[in-house]
Amino acid sequence: MSGSRGRLTVITGPSGVGKGTLVKRLLEKHSEIWLSISATTRSPRDGEHDGLSYFFHSRDSFDRLVADNGLLEWAEFAGNCYGTPRAPVIEQLDAGRPVLLEIELEGARQVRRTFAEGLQIFLAPPSFDELERRIRGRGTDSEDAITRRLARAHEEMTAQSEFDAVVVNDDLDAALAQLEALMQLG
Ligand code: ADP
Ligand code: 5GP
Repeated sequence: MSGSRGRLTVITGPSGVGKGTLVKRLLEKHSEIWLSISATTRSPRDGEHDGLSYFFHSRDSFDRLVADNGLLEWAEFAGNCYGTPRAPVIEQLDAGRPVLLEIELEGARQVRRTFAEGLQIFLAPPSFDELERRIRGRGTDSEDAITRRLARAHEEMTAQSEFDAVVVNDDLDAALAQLEALMQLG
């Protein structure tokens, strides 16, 4: 076991800004990072698998996780519940690994209260029009889901100043380099 505790990093940003794309690139380059897999009541999208993308739950079993204090944080987002399983995060930090959470704003706020020493990064789009183009271009969400996500994006964008750092995901490589520098990755 490593002598020092791992560092916790939270990445938050509006749906469609490119969080998933950037996190994937980070993990490909830095195999030491441990990414938390969230629990959700959302239905799997094409290509998503239980235990890899998310742990997919019914509302009842998600409520049981909450009641058993099994989640480090949880929130409702665009009509579904999402939460971070507590035990594996603690285990990985104790083992000295850098831990990454990719979660929405309310969850980030909860984590800030329990892990004040964690690094909180807000990923912002170059513009709102570009954000809408990306959500639509991804082609994974219904029109109703897109409307909810864009409305929520407006709220999330106003919270940028709460974060330790804001990274604008305009050029993907430049954004990746900024994340690496903030997370002090070699
Ligand atoms: P999120 O996880 O934040 O919801 P995704 O990673 O799914 O967002 O990205 C949304 C869409 O935007 C995807 O189609 C992705 O390929 C595209 N995208 C991500 N980063 C960039 C970028 N820097 N420039 C242009 N398109 C991008
Ligand atoms: P999606 O449905 O696009 O996969 O995710 C929707 C939103 O939920 C994204 O903003 C994502 O960051 C957030 N999210 C994913 N997992 C969690 C989690 O465990 N907790 C919280 N609070 N938000 C999460």
